[in-house]
Amino acid sequence: MNRRDFLKYAAAATLGMYINPFDESIAKASVLETAEPVIYKRLLQFTEYEKRLSTEFIVIHHTVYPGDEHSDVDTTATDIHELHQKKNKWAGIGYHYLIRKDGMIERGRLPDMVGAHALHHNLNSVGICLAGNFEIGKPTKAQMRSVKELTAWLCRKYDLDPYKEGTIVGHRDLNDTKCPGENLYRRLDDIRSFCINN
Ligand SMILES: [Zn+2]
Repeated sequence: MNRRDFLKYAAAATLGMYINPFDESIAKASVLETAEPVIYKRLLQFTEYEKRLSTEFIVIHHTVYPGDEHSDVDTTATDIHELHQKKNKWAGIGYHYLIRKDGMIERGRLPDMVGAHALHHNLNSVGICLAGNFEIGKPTKAQMRSVKELTAWLCRKYDLDPYKEGTIVGHRDLNDTKCPGENLYRRLDDIRSFCINN
């Protein structure tokens, strides 16, 4: 029994519930839990690819670009892809996933490739970006729901322990930046606890 299952049963025991670990409905529930969230794939061309050899943590970002500091707007993965190629001269969008304001998850850089989202920390991390400026705005409910589901699924996919310090971090924990904005940064514990319970 892994730690997550153990905690589930421990929590149930505290509440006076009895859960049989061999119960079929539990098995079905865990199949549902491991389902990949709906991720919209975009036809983005990258100028180079480098495969990531390990995945040890997940970095959460927001989208704020020079000149954009006073607005909190929705952005698409395609827009960021073009910006990162033309302006930054990168291989393409630096994030692996972009979450739109309506909660839609768009795939950015291919999931197993080295990203370009947190200086000196790209070789072993996945980057998730939520569209918006969370120094002034707040992530939408739909964005929070999507980022929780996506992060929980990535923790299972890469066998990451959401309990461990440093598994789910904000960009500001790694580099000198305000990203992912105060209003999203203070929600990271919500994301972590969702991952622990799912
Ligand atoms: Zn960032």
